Amino acid sequence: MDGSAPDSVGTSASWLRCYRCWSQNLEVQVHYEGVLKVDPDTGEAVEPVEEIQEAVVQCLDCLHDQPHLNLAFYEENGRRISRIEAVEDRWERMVAGTPWVASCTVSVEADQVETCSGPEAADSLAFGAFGDHGTREFFTHVRFHKHDAEQIVIHMLVELYARSAEEASEVLEAAARGPLTITSLAEESRPPAAAVGPDDPH
Ligand SMILES: [Zn+2]
Repeated sequence: MDGSAPDSVGTSASWLRCYRCWSQNLEVQVHYEGVLKVDPDTGEAVEPVEEIQEAVVQCLDCLHDQPHLNLAFYEENGRRISRIEAVEDRWERMVAGTPWVASCTVSVEADQVETCSGPEAADSLAFGAFGDHGTREFFTHVRFHKHDAEQIVIHMLVELYARSAEEASEVLEAAARGPLTITSLAEESRPPAAAVGPDDPH
């Protein structure tokens, strides 16, 4: 890796990699929950009547989650196939972008935040401010929050990947679940690319 963005955009090689260090050394953790029907004669548990799956793709080199990748399931000739796919409106921005750090506030209705104290507070405030983006995609650090009648004003430092300051602002604006104010937005340098090949020093 010479530090340049991956080329061949559009092929899986461009997106099937860690968005931070571009490593292709990925794994997916699947949390599976199934409900099986019990055959009254044999006791055999068969035929899933319901199943829930949650899959998190992770990079084995830098250990970060990969919110630009999803695990999709297919049925092919009666066989179950699972395959990693890119999240279309996200992967190019994240893989080709650089980290941007925004200091910002989002004002939301108090009932959009499940809890604002205790160990769950940071996650629940981040989710209240930016939904799924706040907890899954961005690195969201909640600095403090203030109650203002029925509103909660959440003050945060947010790191997200984007290709320009304009794009970073647009993504924050689209994700915010209430009025957003960005007080500063600065570009950071990319984390170092993972070493690849047999000469990998670790
Ligand atoms: Zn990585």
